[in-house]
Amino acid sequence: AAIFCIVSTEKWIEADKRHGWHPFTRQAEWCAADHQPLVLVAGEGVWLEDSQGNRYIDGNSSIWTNVHGHAHPVLNAALAEQAQKVCHTSYLGFANPRASELAERLAGYFTSLQRVFFSDDGSTAMECALKMEVQYRQLVGQGEKCEIIAFDSCYHGDTMGAASLGGVDAFASRFRSFGMPVRHVSSVEQLVELDSSQLENVAALVIEPMVQGVNQIHVWPEGMLVKLREWCDAHDVHLIFDEVMTGFGRTGKMFACQHEAVEPDFLCLAKGLTGGYLPLAATLTNEKIYSAFIGSADRAFYYGHSYTANQLGCAVALANLDLFESENTLAQLAGKIQLLSELLGELAEEFVEIYDIRQCGFVAGVELRQLDGKKFPLDDRLGEHWCVKAREFGLLTRPVLDTIVVMPPLSITEDELRQLVAAMAKTMKAYF
Ligand code: PLP
Repeated sequence: AAIFCIVSTEKWIEADKRHGWHPFTRQAEWCAADHQPLVLVAGEGVWLEDSQGNRYIDGNSSIWTNVHGHAHPVLNAALAEQAQKVCHTSYLGFANPRASELAERLAGYFTSLQRVFFSDDGSTAMECALKMEVQYRQLVGQGEKCEIIAFDSCYHGDTMGAASLGGVDAFASRFRSFGMPVRHVSSVEQLVELDSSQLENVAALVIEPMVQGVNQIHVWPEGMLVKLREWCDAHDVHLIFDEVMTGFGRTGKMFACQHEAVEPDFLCLAKGLTGGYLPLAATLTNEKIYSAFIGSADRAFYYGHSYTANQLGCAVALANLDLFESENTLAQLAGKIQLLSELLGELAEEFVEIYDIRQCGFVAGVELRQLDGKKFPLDDRLGEHWCVKAREFGLLTRPVLDTIVVMPPLSITEDELRQLVAAMAKTMKAYF
């Protein structure tokens, strides 16, 4: 198999460069003759293997999705078992056992969020929340209320509606005028200063609770979620939590909103829902919102996708939730969060090129700086180049600008975590 891979690598790369198109990628550079992309062919636990047989720690959980490691026997078995029965059936007009079980399991984590709408990924989970919000307001006779408040530098996905909320100009500015009317604020302090005339048409407020990912791992102040809940209740504004990145243990609790015991009106889940195996997402909401959609035919929510409630995805999601219990994932994680914080602290002491470390649970960002102590200019591509260098030391991750994202699968062992940070130290030495 190894020889087959090495021989095939050239063919795969050629086909990729000729026909592929990668997300968020400068294709001219990608396709340049001197660019040799890594072709990932296998994975086990926190390790990924390329077509040349090199092994790497999956330092960003394959774009923030993986939870219990790659090729986990329990997840693999759940997939295989479901595949023997049926992989996909339409959820439009039919129920299916795995989706029923999963909806019940997800609702079981919450008090008010008892309705679960499935979709495919983080963006469609957000898109669904936005469309539910818009339709809800129309149904209750408040159709003019359709503005969304979002936070500076937020990221909520790339479909047209979700992208229009985005606070990162590079991703969102081209599309903002084609999506939702949105107002960005920087903090709760700025939010509470908005006067009632500015709030008249505001339907909902959206936030990545506890920590913004794409905004270079920006950790929110403690107590913020409680304040947002109170403010939203006082102003007839719905609260949308985008837990696409933070859900499923990433911040140390199953869901980030549990840190402050706050339930939003909409909760969006994706990435870790299937342990990082398959695209599946869920938008949870409460019975008050759901009940507005009940009645005459024109109240129905006309939204959905072909693969909604995919049985394979739901089966692996159920196994993912089972693993949290059988492997005691969250209890094991507490010590690893502490260890990560200590190891990164030591790294920052060793290297003056580290400008800042920001951590929330098992999400960390290591921001680099120039030798003169200043932050890198926005268009600098140091983070990207640093991550390419890190491959030589067996670490795969991606930066956000000049911040290296450290977000390994929750299943990483303490020893592997030490290896990860040792690879970072080697990269620092080799790079600077
Ligand atoms: N919301 C947040 C907070 C995210 O981090 C992401 C992806 O990184 C998304 C939404 C979009 O999810 P997806 O890429 O699965 O569409």
